[in-house]
Amino acid sequence: MRTTYGRNFLFVPGPTNIPDRVQRAMVVAMEDHRSSKFPDLSKSVLEDLKKIFKTDSAQTFIFPSSGTGAWEAALTNTLSPGDRVLASRFGQFSHLWIDMAQRLGFDVEIMDVEWGEGVPLERTEEVLRGDTGHRIKAILACHNETATGVTSDIAGLRRVMDEANHPALLLVDAVSSLASIDFCMDRWRVDVAVSGSQKGLMLPAGLGILAVSPKALEAMSTASSKRCYFDFADMLASNPSGYFPYTPALPMLYGLRESIDMIFEEGLEHIFERHRYLAEGVRAAVTEGWGLDLCARHPKWYSDTVSAVMLPAGIDGAHVIDVAFRRYNLALGAGLSKVAGKLFRIGHLGDLNELMLMGAIAGAEMAMLDVGVEVTPGSGVAAASNFWRSNDPVPKRRASKEEQFYEAHSTGSIQG
Ligand code: PLP
Repeated sequence: MRTTYGRNFLFVPGPTNIPDRVQRAMVVAMEDHRSSKFPDLSKSVLEDLKKIFKTDSAQTFIFPSSGTGAWEAALTNTLSPGDRVLASRFGQFSHLWIDMAQRLGFDVEIMDVEWGEGVPLERTEEVLRGDTGHRIKAILACHNETATGVTSDIAGLRRVMDEANHPALLLVDAVSSLASIDFCMDRWRVDVAVSGSQKGLMLPAGLGILAVSPKALEAMSTASSKRCYFDFADMLASNPSGYFPYTPALPMLYGLRESIDMIFEEGLEHIFERHRYLAEGVRAAVTEGWGLDLCARHPKWYSDTVSAVMLPAGIDGAHVIDVAFRRYNLALGAGLSKVAGKLFRIGHLGDLNELMLMGAIAGAEMAMLDVGVEVTPGSGVAAASNFWRSNDPVPKRRASKEEQFYEAHSTGSIQG
C-alpha cells in the first residue's frame, strides 16, 4: 500500500518543488499572445534571463519544450551534418546528449570517463592540440551531470580551449546547474548554454531555455542541419518585438516572471551559497552519518544540486527508492543506466531549506534501514544537524518587496 496522506516529499533532482508564489502566478486566464500588452511579459523574461546566465552579449531563447528540445536546438542551429564534435561521457545525461548528436548525423568523438568524474581537462587539451586542422567544430560539456552528482569545471574547459588555441564552439548543458550553481556565460565564453524550467528555475517542466553567443549566432548562418520548430531564426524574427513564432506557454511565462523575481530578491550569489551550504549538510549525512560513499569520486566533483549515494553491494537501490515512495511518501532519484540499482539520488536544488532536507535525509535513512542497509538510526540527521548548526548559515535572505514594505512601515519610514 502506498502512503497517500500528508505531503509528498519531492527530492528528485528535478522537477523541483514549486514555490507557492510561482504556483499562484501561473493560475491565469488565457489571454491573447498577440495583444499589445503581451510583449511587456515576454521581453522582460527574455531580458532578465540574461542576468541569470550572467551574460550581456548573448541572446536568450525560450522554447515550449523540455531541456532535451533545447539540446536539439543547440546542435542543429550551430552545426552541419557530418561536423565533428568532441564530448566527454560520464553519466546518463552526457550520454543522452551524445546519443542525440549521433542520431542527428554529427561525427562525435567520445571521451569515456569513469562515472563519478567530470570533463577531463588534460585529455580534452590533448585532443584539441592534436586537432591541428580544426576539424572539431564544437565541444559538448555537461556542467552538472545529474545522474552522478558531478559538477565539471567549465572555466577550466575554456582555459584549455584557449591554451590549445582552438576555435570550436563551446556548448554547455546547464540544465541542473542554472540558478543554483554559479554559471558565467560571458566570463567562460560559452557559446550555447542549454537549460530547462524544472530545476533551479523552480517551475514545472515545459520550457527549454537557451543563451546563445554572437559567435554561435554567426555559426547559424552556415549551419546546414535541418531545423524547423527549433530554428533560432524564427525566434529572432519575432522575439525582438515581444512575440513568438507560435503560441507560447502563457502560464509558464507568468510563472517564469515570478520565479525570476524570487531569484533576484534572494540574489544569485546568495542562492549559490545556500545551495552549497545545504549540499554540504547532505554530504555530511551521507559520508559521516551513514558512512556511505558518494558517486562523485573527489570533492572537486561534488555537485551542490544533487548527491548520488552509493549503496552497499547486495542492496538494490530501486528497492530503497520504492520503499521511500510507498511507505514514507518520499521521492528520491533513481540510479540511471550504468548505475541503475547501485545508488539513489537526493536532489537539493531550488526552493528548499534545512528542514525540508531533513525530511529527505530521515526518509532515506528509514527506507535504507527497512531494506537492510546497516546504517545507525538517526546518524544522517545528526550529521546534517551538526553541520548546519555549526556552520554560519548563509547571510539572511534579502527582504522581499513585501517584507521591505512592512519593515518600512514598522520603522515608521512610511506613514499611514
Ligand atoms: N541535461 C541534464 C543535466 C538533465 O539533468 C536533464 C534532465 O534531468 C536533461 C538534460 C534533460 O532535460 P529534460 O528532461 O528537461 O528534457
